Amino acid sequence: MKRSKKLAVAGLVGIVCLGATYTAAFASDSGEVGEEGNQPSSGQAKNVIFLIPDGFSQGYTNNYRLYKEDGEPIWDERNMLRAFVQTHSANAEVTDSAAAGTALATGEKTNNGMIGVTPAGQTLPTILDSAKENGKRTGLVATSTITHATPAAFAVSVESRNSYTEIASQMVANDHIDLMLGGGRTEFVPEDQGGIREDGVDLISEAEEKGFAFVETARQLANWNGEEDRLLGLFAEEALSPAANKRTDEPSLGEMTEKAIEFLSKEDNGFFLMVEGSQIDWAGHANDAYYAMTDTAAFEEAVEAAVDFADENGETLVVMVGDHDTGGMAVHASEEGDPSKLHGVSALGSDMAAEVERNYSNLKEVLETYTNFEWTEEELDQLKESDSLELAINTAISEKAGVAWSSLDHTGIDVPLYAYGAGAERFTGTIDNTEVPKIMKAALGI
Ligand SMILES: [Zn+2]
Repeated sequence: MKRSKKLAVAGLVGIVCLGATYTAAFASDSGEVGEEGNQPSSGQAKNVIFLIPDGFSQGYTNNYRLYKEDGEPIWDERNMLRAFVQTHSANAEVTDSAAAGTALATGEKTNNGMIGVTPAGQTLPTILDSAKENGKRTGLVATSTITHATPAAFAVSVESRNSYTEIASQMVANDHIDLMLGGGRTEFVPEDQGGIREDGVDLISEAEEKGFAFVETARQLANWNGEEDRLLGLFAEEALSPAANKRTDEPSLGEMTEKAIEFLSKEDNGFFLMVEGSQIDWAGHANDAYYAMTDTAAFEEAVEAAVDFADENGETLVVMVGDHDTGGMAVHASEEGDPSKLHGVSALGSDMAAEVERNYSNLKEVLETYTNFEWTEEELDQLKESDSLELAINTAISEKAGVAWSSLDHTGIDVPLYAYGAGAERFTGTIDNTEVPKIMKAALGI
């Protein structure tokens, strides 16, 4: 069975000449692809930019291709697809972001919920640690709180991903980090400063004492002159706004990524930067196709910034891979409905639901205000009868846009890995998520 599928792929490569990516994937596809299977023909990198669209998988790439109106997504345009990545954790077929982040940061599996430690609780060194120990600058960027599971996995060791204030403490104490940009101010300051810290510690002041410049608006970030050696940017009390609702005082993910690259590339030894498009996962949990596509568009700007830098610099490896799938998104596009219709939507499902009166008197008006779709009485009745108006709205809009979902949670399918620049060819075939940081380290020669 397996064999014949491979032959079919070989035939396809022969006919349409898909290029080096598929040929290499086929050539090394001997069942298990270990580190040996990924040994490069060439390609050392001085810098790695590791972009993680949380929850993003094949369904998102395909729907986004149909959604996007001005040209191909950059990962298609630059032919960046390299491999598929297995995502299971140490204790579950379906991973969470803590275990997945740990695998991507340390090369070791752990249990769901755990960050930077083995299932037995032993601390694991990360690729960020290795980069710093080899004289490179390091940075973490996210659109969630910076203490959320994925960025945290590169910086801390905790047995529970929910220990947010402890994670913030460890992040500031971690001398290996030069830059952190994201949300989550409340986790860094005590209650009398509007935070949630019960230990009374003001971590922002502590960070400043440890050499961090502190910024909290998009303008401060843009205007920062780079005088200090380290930078902490917390642009929201909790998570940043979804890209569709971006506030002018918050930087976009693309702006944070550009600034991070500019800052980290100032010295000659190279850098390691992790950038997370955190909220694609949240869109998946909500089955909100509009949120998923708009946050993917914002994430694409970060990928463009990374690829532009790699083009200019010539010694940079750009890697992009979701930590797992969220929502089991599928493509049901048809003549009546396809994802490009989401351009006629202008609010998240949660925001629409919040505007609807308890007696639904303005339901139709809200839907007609924020979408270009027609809403029949029958559809309105179905929405009124639902247990969750938000989910019902999201489901209805997804159907009208030809987007289907199979879950409100993560799923266990393999996720596509994209790579570009120096050492990109090291990724081929089906690999485990624990291989990803090992391959990046090999590319960096660390
Ligand atoms: Zn999730």
